[in-house]
Amino acid sequence: PEKYNCVSKLNKLPPNILSLLKSAGEIGDKLNYKVFVVGGFVRDLILNRPNFDIDIVIEGDGIEFAEEFNKRLNGTINTYASFGTATVILETGEAIDIVTARREYYEHPAALPKIEKSSIWSDLFRRDFTINCMALQLNEKKFGTLLDYFGGLEDLENKKIRILYNLSFIEDPTRIFRAIRFAARMNFAIEEETKEFICKAISENMIKKLSEDRIREELVSILKDSYPHLGLKLLTEYGVINNLNSDLIIDADIIEKVQNITKSIKEFDSFNIEISKYKVIVLQILSSVNNLDEVMNLFFTTSHFEEIKNTLAHKNSIYEALLAENLDKYHLFTLLKGLSIESLVFYYNDCNDEYMRHYIMLYMLILRNISIHVTGEDLKKLNISPGPIYKKIFDEILKAKILGLVYSKEDELKFIEKNNLLGK
Ligand code: ATP
Repeated sequence: PEKYNCVSKLNKLPPNILSLLKSAGEIGDKLNYKVFVVGGFVRDLILNRPNFDIDIVIEGDGIEFAEEFNKRLNGTINTYASFGTATVILETGEAIDIVTARREYYEHPAALPKIEKSSIWSDLFRRDFTINCMALQLNEKKFGTLLDYFGGLEDLENKKIRILYNLSFIEDPTRIFRAIRFAARMNFAIEEETKEFICKAISENMIKKLSEDRIREELVSILKDSYPHLGLKLLTEYGVINNLNSDLIIDADIIEKVQNITKSIKEFDSFNIEISKYKVIVLQILSSVNNLDEVMNLFFTTSHFEEIKNTLAHKNSIYEALLAENLDKYHLFTLLKGLSIESLVFYYNDCNDEYMRHYIMLYMLILRNISIHVTGEDLKKLNISPGPIYKKIFDEILKAKILGLVYSKEDELKFIEKNNLLGK
């Protein structure tokens, strides 16, 4: 398994990360423990994708190692003695996870346990996919040596997601979601047998064994990853979506619209407003669902429910109004005012109509920020007694302003008098 050496790739890492890994190796040498960096870090290093999430496995006492490591780095340490794990938090806020490799393992059912050499093996064997099961040794003499017991490197080269053993998805059904997440993110294929095991686990209703929270977390991870439309496509193809809730129907049109969201959000870049892409994606996914109450909690806990319902409930009437022949700017303003930026981006993305998009942009560019200068104090000075009349006046001025009839505060005051808005 030691067929590949990653020293040159490690040497290209940012100096602080490289020196961190070297320190880990030195401490391992001092304590006489083997030290490995494992999992996603190794996968992404080989793929030349930046990932500085460092997971360390120690063949030895992980906690003792973590304490030494923490001393060297001047960090903060949390230890979990019963699990033999620790987290070291650096001054920069980054966290490094350290675990003790499980010791016992039998290479064949009848073989003697291979303790020393095998513990990293069993730690890797408990993981999900071959591409996530590689380790790099950090001890000085072997710095950068790849341990690849399960063919991870080959699968990386062939762009394949493959489980390690048949019962993997039955043991932990979250791996169904993880397989889809990695496949979508890297545009990898799920290997044929792995595919069959996914389908088998789904048909044995394994997804239903997961709590609502776990399912939500996994869905969120897929939809927040780089290519949510690909994740969604796979979730649909494998029947995960249908298994979660048969009211949730995702067709090619929705997948295409989810794909377009990135581009739509770009159109709103110049407004410098933070946009939750995830919220727009969920709106798009739910856009043709009838029974929203049943499915919203797949994507959100209770927050945002009202906003989602309102945005979707008003969708058709807003589209209709945007297409109406006599739509003036004031009407447009009242139609879109108060909507969240995500709702606006959603309508923009979903409507698929240049005419409607033009109006949404007109609102964003010109109308959204229009406000009036005249205040309640000014009205008092005009001897208007406070009451519902104030709102009426403000609305009239706003309307005049949107229609371009008034501009300055002076104009506004004149407008009040000229139009007999004083209510006297
Ligand atoms: P990401 O880039 O999304 O962080 P990652 O591979 O680092 O990807 P994590 O969820 O942080 O993913 O998990 C770290 C490692 O732990 C994985 O590489 C994998 O080896 C292992 N792992 C995580 N979840 C599971 C699981 N459900 N079953 C088996 N192994 C898992």
